[in-house]
Amino acid sequence: MRFVVVFLAVVYAAFSGVAFSAPQESFDQFLVGFEKKALSAGIPKTVYRAATKGLKPDPSIKVSQGSQPEFEKPVWSYLDQRITADRIERGRSAFGKNEALFNRVGNAYGVDPYMLAAIWGVETDYGAIMNNDRYFKPVLRSLFSLVHQRRGRVKLDEAELIAALQIYARGEAPVSGLKGSWAGALGHLQIMPSAFLTHGTDFDGDGKRDPHGSLGDALASSAKWLLGVGYQPGQDWGYEVDLPKGFDYMLAGRTQLRSISFFAERGVTRVKRRKFGDLDEQVFLYVPAGAGGPKFLMTQNYLALKGYNFADSYALAVAHLTDRLKGAGPFVNSWPRQAKFLNRQQRIELQKRMMKLGFYADKLDGRFGPISQDALRQWQKRHGHLADGFATIGVYNSVMNSN
Ligand code: CA
Repeated sequence: MRFVVVFLAVVYAAFSGVAFSAPQESFDQFLVGFEKKALSAGIPKTVYRAATKGLKPDPSIKVSQGSQPEFEKPVWSYLDQRITADRIERGRSAFGKNEALFNRVGNAYGVDPYMLAAIWGVETDYGAIMNNDRYFKPVLRSLFSLVHQRRGRVKLDEAELIAALQIYARGEAPVSGLKGSWAGALGHLQIMPSAFLTHGTDFDGDGKRDPHGSLGDALASSAKWLLGVGYQPGQDWGYEVDLPKGFDYMLAGRTQLRSISFFAERGVTRVKRRKFGDLDEQVFLYVPAGAGGPKFLMTQNYLALKGYNFADSYALAVAHLTDRLKGAGPFVNSWPRQAKFLNRQQRIELQKRMMKLGFYADKLDGRFGPISQDALRQWQKRHGHLADGFATIGVYNSVMNSN
C-alpha cells in the first residue's frame, strides 16, 4: 500500500505540471542529440540508428498534447461519453466471445476479468480503434515527437521513449509494429511502454510478448501491472454509498484508508440496502460531485486503476463499466447535472485564492483533484458551509469574496 501512495504522489507531481515550452531545435537535431541519452540507457547504437532512420515527427502531436478530457470535464459528462448503452452492449458481447480467455487470465492473476474488459473498453473500445490510423500510430514516432515538443512531463515522456526503444531493442516488435496512442500507450489495453517492459507477459505462449496482436498477452500484462501498483485480489473497486444527515464530510479524502466498519459506525450504508462484505476492508470516502451526487467508499483497487491513468474520472469510468459489464445498472444516486461547473480559468483562480487564504499549497493548474478538494473542504468548514469539496460557481463566488 505504501508503494502505491508513493507511486501516486510521483505520478501526480508529474501530471500537475502541464505547461510545455516550444522546442528549441529541429526534430533532426533532437534525434541526433537524444542518441547520447539512449546509449547511456543501454540502447545499442545500431538499434537507435535503425529506429530513427528517416523518422519524421508526427505533425498531429502538437495539437493532441494540450488536452486530456478526463481532467477538463465534469465527471458525469466524461462518464456519459465513455459508458454508453452501446459500449455496455458491445462490451458484454466482446466479453462473451472471449469468456474462456478472460477467465483464464482472471484465474491466473486474481484480477477481476470484468475490470480488464472495462479497461479494454474505455481504452480502445474493445480493440475497435486499433485499426484507425488517427488513433493508433507507431509509438516510437509518437514518443520521439512528444519528447521533442518538451511538454511539462518531459522526464516521464523520455522514460517511456527509452522503454519503447528497449522493447524494440529486444527484438520484440519491428519499429512500425509498436502501435498505440499519441502518448505512447501500447495495444489493446493501452499499457505504457515502461509498464510493458517490466510487466509484459507472453500469455498465449507463442514466445513473444505482444500487447497489440494478442489479446491474451494484453490482458495478462495489464493484470500484472495492476498487481504491481497494489491491486488486491478478491476485493471490489468500491461501493456506492449513502451518507446520513449531518455527516461530517471532513472524513472524505484519501490521505488515510480506514476500515469499512469505521464508516458503517458513522451511519454510512450501501445504496439500496446492499450489504458490505468484509467490514475490515480498507477504504476511503470519495465524494466526486458534492453532497448532491453519488458518493463512494473506494478500496485499494480503485487506487490501482489510478496507476493506469491518474484521472479520477478515468478510474471511476473503468470501475463503473466493470459493474455494468457484469449486468449491474447505473449509479443509484444521480449526478447534480444542474450544477454550474467551473471552467479552467475559474478553477485556477479558485486555487490561487485558496492559496492566498492559506488553505492550499499545491500547483495552480486548474485540475481540481483530491488536494484541491481537501483545501476547499477546509475552507467550507472554516466558513460554516457544508464541507463537501465540490467546486460550483456558487462556492467559487463565496471563496473569491471571502477573507
Ligand atoms: Ca504471445
